[in-house]
Amino acid sequence: MVHLNVCTSRRDEMLDVTRQVTDAVRQAGVRQGYCIVFVPHTTAGVTINEHADPDVAADILAALDRVVPWTGSYRHDEGNAAAHVKASLMGSSVTVPVEDGSPQLGTWQGIFLCEFDGPRSRHVWVSIVPAS
Ligand code: ZN
Repeated sequence: MVHLNVCTSRRDEMLDVTRQVTDAVRQAGVRQGYCIVFVPHTTAGVTINEHADPDVAADILAALDRVVPWTGSYRHDEGNAAAHVKASLMGSSVTVPVEDGSPQLGTWQGIFLCEFDGPRSRHVWVSIVPAS
């Protein structure tokens, strides 16, 4: 497993980690299989979406804010309940097929760490599983 460390700079942010994940997969030398990108956090998640137009990520963050406002009638007394809810909506992992030693993403797709309680230092774990 490859451990990537990233730093976020805002409370809510979609950080494009496609290049780091692609480099990790290429360095692993696995020609065919799967790459699992896992985020070991409860207030950050991971998702795949368009990374050509940064307005898409901005729209996703704005939509999540409308669905899950930062302040509200939450029980969790740490003050970051919205971040926990958003992290669960995004999920903790994505799986990408690997062919010819590279993760196979669609033309417009990128992999994003989704920060919901930043800025913080975050971990991204990349497991590269060869096809049997
Ligand atoms: Zn909390």
